[in-house]
Amino acid sequence: MNHDTGAILVLSGPSGAGKSSLITKIEDQIGAYYFSISTTTRPMRKGEIEGVHYYFVTKEQFENDIEEENFLEYARVHGNYYGTSLKPVKKALKAGKLVIFDIDVQGHDAVQKRLADITTSVFITTPTLGELKRRLNNRGTDAQEIIDGRIEMAKREVQRISEYDYLVINDDLDEAADMLVYIAKAARMKIPSIAINEFVFAWENND
Ligand code: 5GP
Repeated sequence: MNHDTGAILVLSGPSGAGKSSLITKIEDQIGAYYFSISTTTRPMRKGEIEGVHYYFVTKEQFENDIEEENFLEYARVHGNYYGTSLKPVKKALKAGKLVIFDIDVQGHDAVQKRLADITTSVFITTPTLGELKRRLNNRGTDAQEIIDGRIEMAKREVQRISEYDYLVINDDLDEAADMLVYIAKAARMKIPSIAINEFVFAWENND
């Protein structure tokens, strides 16, 4: 069945699990998509670009956006705000695109509450905690206390894997990317309940 309502693919998992590398690897294999660029109050990391990795704003700007109900969801992560702006997401869904979110477990929870029938979710992680520690230390972009915070958060987040549709263990990047391509393609085929009703009605009333 074809439908053109767009769909949502939520990717969560510890910083350092390789979400960004995976998205880069699969982007030319999954059709038209829109990667949601979040807004954050956290300081910019070395190598990050405004409007590419995040929109970097002050706490006051962020709180103003909350008040004006500009976010589909937002959460406090590692002491900073992170949020998904509603407008570009609506536009991309209307254009029939697959909207990809890189958000934490709280954000996933909020998206499920609002848009469950078009949402597919994936938790991406390293094979072990030890491997996550090695990757975060080798990345060399964060201070030790920030790395420690991310590890603590990762330990809490893995307790909630069962809330996700799929688990991808990023041991071998190529294999993990292949799995993610299958999932992204299936996510596009998820049928919102309204489309099912329309289909059944048309199916029953046409020869
Ligand atoms: P980082 O600081 O490493 O870029 O991201 C830290 C965490 O915040 C990651 O788990 C990431 O998925 C999450 N995150 C990034 N953007 C958003 C967002 O818009 N909403 C929520 N809820 N979490 C986000």
